[in-house]
Parts: sequence; C-alpha cells; structure tokens
Amino acid sequence: MSKLYTAKMLENMVRQGQSLATIPSNARLTPMARDIIRKEGRKPSGQPSSAPVSQPASGGAAIRIHDPVLPKAEYVWTPGGDPKTAAAMKTFFYSPEIEELKETICEIGRRIWNKGYVDGNGGNITVRVGDNLVLCTPTLISKGFMKPEDICMVDMDGNQVAGTRPRTSEVNTHLGIMKAEPRAKSCVHAHPIYATAFAVAGVTPPACLIPEPEVFLGEIGFASYQTPGTPENASEVGALAKRHQSILMQNHGVICWGNDVEDAFWKMENTDAFCQTVTITMQLGGPKQYSPEKLRELIEIRKKLGMPDARLEEMQECQLCDTSLFTVNTCPQPGACNPIPSNSCGINDMGHKCGGAGDGSGDCCGTCNNKTAAVAVDENLVQRITDMIMEKLNA
Ligand SMILES: [Zn+2]
Repeated sequence: MSKLYTAKMLENMVRQGQSLATIPSNARLTPMARDIIRKEGRKPSGQPSSAPVSQPASGGAAIRIHDPVLPKAEYVWTPGGDPKTAAAMKTFFYSPEIEELKETICEIGRRIWNKGYVDGNGGNITVRVGDNLVLCTPTLISKGFMKPEDICMVDMDGNQVAGTRPRTSEVNTHLGIMKAEPRAKSCVHAHPIYATAFAVAGVTPPACLIPEPEVFLGEIGFASYQTPGTPENASEVGALAKRHQSILMQNHGVICWGNDVEDAFWKMENTDAFCQTVTITMQLGGPKQYSPEKLRELIEIRKKLGMPDARLEEMQECQLCDTSLFTVNTCPQPGACNPIPSNSCGINDMGHKCGGAGDGSGDCCGTCNNKTAAVAVDENLVQRITDMIMEKLNA
C-alpha cells in the first residue's frame, strides 16, 4: 500500500523547504492533507502566488504558510468498509487519519472551553467515521485539556469499541441525531451561558433579526426536557435533527450538528452569539425585525448551501417573522390557554389555529404535546415568564 501523508507531514515538508511536488501521485492523503494539496499542491513550478510563500527547494509546489488552514473536511468512509476484526479495528483506531481527527476533536474541546461554553466536565464531541463507528470524547474530563489518547470510539448503539477511557453517556444523544440525519457527521454539545439560559427559560430566539444565523443556523429547534443521556433524550433530540442543526435542550444546553467537527462547532458559536445579542437587544428597547420577504431570501440562500430548512414549505410568508417574536416552548397551564397573539395569519408558528384575536379560545395549549404556544412579547417578557412560573407554583 502506498504511503499515507498527513497535514502535519506536509507542513513539516514545507518548513524544511521540501517541495510538495515530490509526493507521489498515488500517495494516500488524509482529508486535511488533501485540502492542502488541493489548495496549494501540485501547481506547475513558477506559478505566481499572491501571498508570501515558502521557497520550495526544487521549484515545485509551495504552500502559503500564513494562510489559515481551511475548515477540516468532512470525513468520508467507504460504505460497508468498517473494520471487521478486533485487529483491524485497532489498526483503524490508531491510523494516521483517525489520529488527526482525534487531535481536531481535542482542538475543538479547547475552543469550547476557552469560550466558556463548558464548565467542569461538561460538553461532549463526536465525529462519525464509519457506518457503525463514531469517535467520541470520554466521560469526566475537562474538554479544555484532552489529549488524543483520551478519545474513544463507539458503535451506533453506543457500545464502546476502542479507547481506554470510558465514553460519555451523553453520546447517545449524538447517536440519536446521527441515526435520524445521515448528514450529521459530527455533533458538539455544550452549555454556553446565553443559549442555555434560553433553554432554561424555555424560549427560542425570534427570526428576522440577524441574517447570518438564518443562513448558517436556520431555525433553532427546541427539545423538551429529558434526563441527559437517556434513550428518551436521544429520541426527542433525534426527531428534531432533520429539521434543525442547532437544538436547545430544555433545562440543559445546546447540541449542534454539522458536516465535520469544525462546522458543528461554528453552529454552536453562532447559536450562543445570537442568543447573547438578542439578550442585550432586550435591554436596548427590544428587537426590531426585518420583513418576512427578506427572510425568505435568506432561507433560499441557506437551501442553496445544502442546509436543511423546512420553513418555506411549511409556513406562510407572513408566519416567517411571527410578530410574537419569542416562542415559549413550555405550556404554562395545559388546557388553559394563555392569551395567544393573533399574528397576521391567525396561526401560531407550529401551524395551529389560535382562536383568532388572542381571546384564548384556541387550542394551542391543548396541543402542548406539540410544545409550542406562541406568547406575545412586550417589553416585559421576563415578567411574563415569571408570572407563568408563579401561577404554576400557586396552582
Ligand atoms: Zn450536557
């Protein structure tokens, strides 16, 4: 078999002044190494480059050392090609490609810890590497200080198949997403303060406020509370994964999925930044929305990028920027409807008829199994939520 080259090996070659053109055309490359070759690799010698380049010894290909390395490519495996024997599993688990992915997982762990998205041993990260194989972080470890040898591997049922440290129990939630949505090749779970505060309040942030989250996050999902790591939690979150790449888990935290671990992490950053901005906006007189027509354009861009979004199929345009702004995802008093605002469609954002003019005659709260009762926000959102809690306590 031909020699395998990793990104690190290529970087070392460049540092030592060796040309990447010396890499044989039949060499095997890790995904990150392939990215480098694709970007800078086997160009004919003498081709001008716009950035300072290292000087290759033989005038061959060069790499721009100061260029940022592109997001890690999605890990692609051969369907049906999972290692079958214990020995093959071990070889695979310690192969250069998987070692590189373990390093990337540790790097993302450092980033979620540095951003304050996790505390103690909180959070976990997974990357799917086969039909039935998923790399995952171990239990009881700070995500800021992991080493590649800490990373373990499980099958799609959560049974540990490699690694010395025991896997996190919350891997089941990640697997729930991966089973429901094959495009989910990596999941990142964390407890970032702002987004988790939304999850604890049972509130999802409004649409039509900032373009980037609409394109890169889409509609943020909301999973009702289940004990972390249980099959119930996995099926609750999994059921939302086809439609949502970022899911607030009630009274718990956030889980995001992407094509690769960097992509999943970016969605976590987008989610928390969005929630933080909305929170501060509430102190500055409340959010001002742009129009549903503009949101439609953003959703179309998102769909062109190949990201899931069901809103255009399922909602009327006037529902896209629901005037209720915030969606309270928990039913304060089942059966006793809170005043439901009539948006311009007279339908709440799960498509339930809402009794028209907010007279409470609708059955939104009666359908609390759908988890959504839209509640009009005014400048006293916090007060309203407090009132609901007090009502419940006094009931
Ligand atoms: Zn958690």
